[in-house]
Amino acid sequence: MARFIFITGGVVSSLGKGLMAASLGALLQARGYKVRTRKFDPYLNVDPGTMSPYQHGEVYVTDDGAETDLDLGHYERFTGVASRQADNVTQGRIYQTIIQKERRGDYLGATVQVIPHVTDEIKAFALAETDDVDFVLCEIGGTVGDIESLPFMEAIRQLHNELGPLQSIFVHVTLVPYIAAAGELKTKPTQHSVRELTSLGIQPDILLCRCEQPLPDSEQAKIALFCNVRKEAVIPALDARSIYAVPVQYHREGLDRAVLEAFGIEGAREPDLARWQDIMERYDHPEGEVTIGVVGKYVGLPDAYKSLHEALMHGGLANRVKVKIQWLDAELFEATESDIAAQLEPMHGILVPGGFGVRGSEGKIASVRFARERNVPFFGICLGMQMACIEGARNTAGIAHASTTEFGPTDEPVVGLITEWMSKEGLQRRHAGTDLGGTMRLGAYPAKLTGNSMVAGIYGTEDISERHRHRYEVNARYREPLETGGLIFSGMSPDGALPEIVERPDHPWFIGVQFHPELKSKPFDPHPLFRSFIEAAVKQSRLV
Ligand code: GLN
Repeated sequence: MARFIFITGGVVSSLGKGLMAASLGALLQARGYKVRTRKFDPYLNVDPGTMSPYQHGEVYVTDDGAETDLDLGHYERFTGVASRQADNVTQGRIYQTIIQKERRGDYLGATVQVIPHVTDEIKAFALAETDDVDFVLCEIGGTVGDIESLPFMEAIRQLHNELGPLQSIFVHVTLVPYIAAAGELKTKPTQHSVRELTSLGIQPDILLCRCEQPLPDSEQAKIALFCNVRKEAVIPALDARSIYAVPVQYHREGLDRAVLEAFGIEGAREPDLARWQDIMERYDHPEGEVTIGVVGKYVGLPDAYKSLHEALMHGGLANRVKVKIQWLDAELFEATESDIAAQLEPMHGILVPGGFGVRGSEGKIASVRFARERNVPFFGICLGMQMACIEGARNTAGIAHASTTEFGPTDEPVVGLITEWMSKEGLQRRHAGTDLGGTMRLGAYPAKLTGNSMVAGIYGTEDISERHRHRYEVNARYREPLETGGLIFSGMSPDGALPEIVERPDHPWFIGVQFHPELKSKPFDPHPLFRSFIEAAVKQSRLV
């Protein structure tokens, strides 16, 4: 039976609980254990799919088509375990399930209440699909003391009891702030946070203390004494120079050892950390630097492009170069052409990422044109590929009014609403009036690549599977004029209906993909398209 590690946060939000969970997962894996990492989100949205990237950062998509919290991206990048729908649940989904059951009469006349009905549903979620692993790490979103997270706290308290001795532990992540005026680290907020937690019936086994300065032995002892935790289980967590330095750093501070001790596990093998040491060796000793311009809409909040940022870093690790990302606001490019040139000329690669809506689109199209005409490596992802097709249609295929129906009515819908496609559940149908929530082509779909294409060479195969999240699609009816203009459709859905990849063979590196390759990239296994894109940028940097 799987053992459970419940991870809560205290004092303030944004303590990096997700990274902590991901890193602990990686450490247990490095000791030979099988892990799953999951997230409980206390908000009332059914999933983050309809939330603004400014509110919630990127929406991470799983193979099985779930729109999930961006922490699942960290879990997958650190453990390599593909996340599933079952790994993320929100309070909204819990209530939706309960209310559906109530309407169906499943509760047989009972009064439906937070305890036991909501907590039962949360426990069922925590336990589902865990038979095949040694450890399940469950991160509870929010901060102890939030009204919203109370049912989750109550559920893990119950579960701890029900699972029996040594089957589950609690890890609490806190902040030990440094007060400059006093020149001291302060443990009081941690004490208060643990008191709040114990008032909910949860006694933490391990405290992970985020701090900006080394935590003196005396303060560690004080936290242990006041919080009723063994001193070895008070783990200092200093800020790291890179998120990929965190697993080795936490191991050095004794986190994985403390976890095994809390479970009473003896004789576990030491972790093999070679993978993480290799990543940091590459990170610390780059042999060059490239600058990539990302032309998007949500550039004010890099969390909105979390996986993209990481995948570009992975491409850098693979090529042993430092990747500098210049976040460029597409809307500012809607001014004059010379402004664009001045900003894009220093770039060794240009990337137009995924996005929604018309705002900034002309700036994105102008960036595609710049990259095409100046032979600068270009990577278009999802909306970025659609913009590349519209640019190609307008400027190389003579279709002056080419556009997408996403931006309003058009006579030349080079990109249009997907109305029909095959999914694992059978034929899917949509029409313009369908709800916005959960109506996209989502999750992993296979694609067939053309034998002698650039992308087949990069992937080293003609059969791929990548994750999708879009409502619109390049219209295959425009294939002929676009190809005549030099934009080749080199990847299609297996039935040949949906364009998945376009490329320009007469350009050093120009590729657009309808899917999100960044979601599957890992620091120890960089995605081939990012590896190749950064390689092309390195070549470009030698030219300019
Ligand atoms: N807005 C586009 C669509 O829905 C692209 C989506 C995306 O880039 N993820 O098709």
